Amino acid sequence: MLGRVQHPDRDVTLGARTSHRRLPFEDPTSLQKRTFPRAGYLRGRRSCENNRVNPWIIASPAVVAAVAGLTAYGAVHPGSQLFGPTIRHTASPRDLAITFDDGPNPAMTPKLLDLLQRSAARATFFLIGRYVRECPDLVREISARGHTIGCHTDTHPNLLFAGPRRIHDELLRGSDAIASVTGALPKWFRPPWGFRNPWLAPATRELNLRVVMWSVLPSDWRAPSAAWLIDRMQPISTRASANAKQANATGDILCLHDGYHARQNGDRTYTLAALEHCLPRWRDLGLKFATIDQAVTPPA
Ligand SMILES: [Zn+2]
Repeated sequence: MLGRVQHPDRDVTLGARTSHRRLPFEDPTSLQKRTFPRAGYLRGRRSCENNRVNPWIIASPAVVAAVAGLTAYGAVHPGSQLFGPTIRHTASPRDLAITFDDGPNPAMTPKLLDLLQRSAARATFFLIGRYVRECPDLVREISARGHTIGCHTDTHPNLLFAGPRRIHDELLRGSDAIASVTGALPKWFRPPWGFRNPWLAPATRELNLRVVMWSVLPSDWRAPSAAWLIDRMQPISTRASANAKQANATGDILCLHDGYHARQNGDRTYTLAALEHCLPRWRDLGLKFATIDQAVTPPA
């Protein structure tokens, strides 16, 4: 009976012996490994463990972590296509699509509409259905000024853990609220907080909605000042200059907020002030302010 043990530097075959005679070339740390009964015991024990232990039990924490990580990425990352196709860039680097979520907001949206009008800018408003029912005249005004209106659910729930019926109901009620005011069903949908799950894609397909995410999210809801927000939107100017020289470049979709999902009349003064500062500068860089309708190539 022969036993084969490994050493980092040598491969030694040992005979069947119960005592070990130290050889001159061996180093002391390897002696224990080379004593056959000890080596045999270890080999046998390791073999038994391999037979008994389900490798999935060892691997499962890693597998669970990997699946959880992939799911989180798919649910949250704006560029993820795991839970259905999304749009996050305009087709041309010259087109900047400015989008607003969580309105209509009677405290802010009229001022924003005036600013956009003065700047000859078109934008896209993702509206919450229950606010649409509260402010139908404001919704009509948004539409009359040439902006695109998209759906942002009916009550702004977190869709991450919502089931298929809830998701379908939220999208349907939100879309119907818009259509009852404007006479047209929305074509675009933005999920609250950008959260998606596997039930969203079937619902958007059935309701003929396309999911629009963003390439720039400056977190205007927590802006401590207009200057802070202007700084967070700087990548738009940086990319506009760089992308103009590239043949296949795309443009940005900027996500801002004219409302506050939890209550009406949210204060978005810094958003307004930052936009007032940036719009003429972006225009000077050659950017055009386009709606999602005008600026994207819908996914097949
Ligand atoms: Zn929102």
